[in-house]
Amino acid sequence: MTRPNEVRASLSARRRAAELDALAGGAPVDVLVVGGGVTGTGVALDAASRGLSVALVEAHDLAFGTSRWSSKLVHGGLRYLAHGHVRLARQSAVERDILLRRTAPHLTRPMAQLFPRYADASAAAEALTAAGLTAGDALRRLAGTPSALLPRPRSVPAAQALTLAPGLREAGLHGGMLAFDGALTDDARLVVALARTAAGLGARVLTRVRALELAADRVRARDELTGEHVELRARQVVNAAGVWAGGLVPSVRLRPSRGSHLVLDGRATGLGETALMVGVPGETNRFVFLLPQPGGRVYLGLTDEPLDGEATDITEVPESDVDFLLDVASRVLARPPTRADVLGSFAGLRPLLDSADGRTSDLSREHAVLTDAATGVVTVVGGKLTTYRVMARDTVDAAVRAARLRAPASRTARLPLIGAADRAALATVEAPRALVRRYGTEAPRVAALGDVDPALARPVADGSDVTAGEVVWAVRHEGALSADDVLHRRTRLGLVAPEAEAARPEVTDLVERSLRGLR
Ligand SMILES: Cc1cc2nc3c(=O)[nH]c(=O)nc-3n(C[C@H](O)[C@H](O)[C@H](O)COP(=O)(O)OP(=O)(O)OC[C@H]3O[C@@H](n4cnc5c(N)ncnc54)[C@H](O)[C@@H]3O)c2cc1C
Repeated sequence: MTRPNEVRASLSARRRAAELDALAGGAPVDVLVVGGGVTGTGVALDAASRGLSVALVEAHDLAFGTSRWSSKLVHGGLRYLAHGHVRLARQSAVERDILLRRTAPHLTRPMAQLFPRYADASAAAEALTAAGLTAGDALRRLAGTPSALLPRPRSVPAAQALTLAPGLREAGLHGGMLAFDGALTDDARLVVALARTAAGLGARVLTRVRALELAADRVRARDELTGEHVELRARQVVNAAGVWAGGLVPSVRLRPSRGSHLVLDGRATGLGETALMVGVPGETNRFVFLLPQPGGRVYLGLTDEPLDGEATDITEVPESDVDFLLDVASRVLARPPTRADVLGSFAGLRPLLDSADGRTSDLSREHAVLTDAATGVVTVVGGKLTTYRVMARDTVDAAVRAARLRAPASRTARLPLIGAADRAALATVEAPRALVRRYGTEAPRVAALGDVDPALARPVADGSDVTAGEVVWAVRHEGALSADDVLHRRTRLGLVAPEAEAARPEVTDLVERSLRGLR
């Protein structure tokens, strides 16, 4: 199989300008993708790895939309099992295995999760959770994931639960279930890795290009940097614009739901590395998560509320979500978290298909590939981050059929993303662990920037674990075009506003100098 070329996998402002120029008014590509989230970049990679010519346009930046606001779980689909969606749960378990062991070991890790059991818990809910975890483990085995990577779930006594999660409230604690699932270091970095791997196979990845009007074989678009209008031609156009997909193809009807997270200082929660899954009072199989992150933060999420009105670019976290999340966490933590412990917050919108009445949390998370009868545009919506690869495969299959392209079957199950290596190899990469978690086998190249110029080894702000070298790398190789791209998507400094603002002057200067070739 063709492997991505590392040099070609570099995205930069210069490459963007040259490729947009060549594409506008030039020969059609086989597949033109609209949307640079996990779905669109996944489609671009699937198509490029089948030998098709590909371009992708993204209105803002890679991972600008929902894909950077997820819970960052690569999950086996416990909730789908509870709702009887066995096929979807099985698919999730298989995709989790592919991400953890083949395509992105560098960006993923196993995460221990504790479901604490308190005296006042409903026995039925406990039994359902235990049954779900057992069934989920059967799917893990079917997917071929070894128990050395994701150990079997087991019941633990109260003393062990407290060792795993020292911040738990002790009064009334009867123990809990310990289970293991997958987690991403950073969802936005998965999207960047997908885009760069696609670019390494020849895909043209063009950020700051907004699609205005779609037909099966062309897109009218605007270069958001110059304001210039361009027409881009293709044998098949694919709409992967997430919650904005319906704005481009009106027959696509979505019912987005909002999910919010709070960013807490890990010390305030008293948690170690084990996540807590806390049942929402009065509901079965709905959980609020406390998810410890490398670097000491804990994400507290998640809500699932229908969105009123249109999807805006950025979704705010309403006060009611803050209260709800703090309230649920307070039920299980020895020291109830307060608003003073909240360092930041983020919310995203799930692009769920409007397929049924009822609450959005009960709508199916299955994805759909729809070919619009009026225009012939292929749209992909729904699904989730964990299953992006099958979504992409099904979408490219549909595009190939619709445009009668000649292409082999999907190859992405065996195609490691840029920076990937197996866990044993990653353990021997000679670079700081924090860099290996973000860049995998490319970490020594990022670290080497600081060897050549010691100023680039320094953090971008006091106390930050992001170095100046990472900013330069983001501009030279990861397609960052502005300080915001770096603060909010190549790094996640933006999750805590004061930290982003402390780093902004240095990041802005580095980005500007790198764009001018002075760095
Ligand atoms: C709160 C929350 C938590 C979640 N947690 C998880 C989780 O832990 N694990 C999991 O597997 N899944 C999770 N999901 C689901 C997952 O995040 C989404 O299904 C997935 O990210 C959707 O990706 P997407 O590429 O379809 O959409 P997006 O990421 O929104 O991408 C669409 C892109 O299209 C661009 N765009 C829009 N209009 C145009 C235009 N006119 N021209 C060009 N570009 C355009 C946007 O800028 C955007 O970048 C979660 C979802 C939410 C909301």
